[in-house]
Amino acid sequence: MTSRRSFLCLAGRAVVATAATSALCACGNLNWVWDEPPRRKLGARIDDGSPRVLNLAHRSGEHVEQVYKVAGTYRRDALREIEFMLRDREAEQVAVIDLRLLDVLAELQETFGPGRPIEVLSGFRSERTNAKLRQRNRNAARNSLHTRGQAVDIRIPGVDRREIFEAAAELKAGGVGLYRGESFVHVDVGPVRTWT
Ligand SMILES: [Zn+2]
Repeated sequence: MTSRRSFLCLAGRAVVATAATSALCACGNLNWVWDEPPRRKLGARIDDGSPRVLNLAHRSGEHVEQVYKVAGTYRRDALREIEFMLRDREAEQVAVIDLRLLDVLAELQETFGPGRPIEVLSGFRSERTNAKLRQRNRNAARNSLHTRGQAVDIRIPGVDRREIFEAAAELKAGGVGLYRGESFVHVDVGPVRTWT
């Protein structure tokens, strides 16, 4: 197995690291060489300058807790860890995540308790992974915002998904959706809309 990473530019926007499978445990060794796209920021309504923390977990046992923004400035090291956490685990690809999405997650974190991790079921998805998902699940959209690093599927243990849905919808920061038979809430930073 090679430890060499290759870097691809997708659609002129997301720069993705295609990592060897060993990257699963090599978070600190991933070579993140990319031209950062302009990161869009959420409005001042949500950002009062106080340190923002993200506490994210995955059912594999992976966990990341990081102060990712201080006084309105995003911390690059923290973003890398968070983006790694939100990677496409099937394709082992890491992508830039829209900062507004992180701010929405942080807002939900504060609402439901900073000590309570948000469980991420799906973050970034490569086009290929999304296409595969579409074959098995009609809920996956063709031009999913997951493929642009602008959507996550989450749940918060001990919190009803309806409560998360309502808190996220109240932010009016993008789309919020529930799917019949699924335990997660889809949150994105596309057009403001809701569906259940
Ligand atoms: Zn989703």
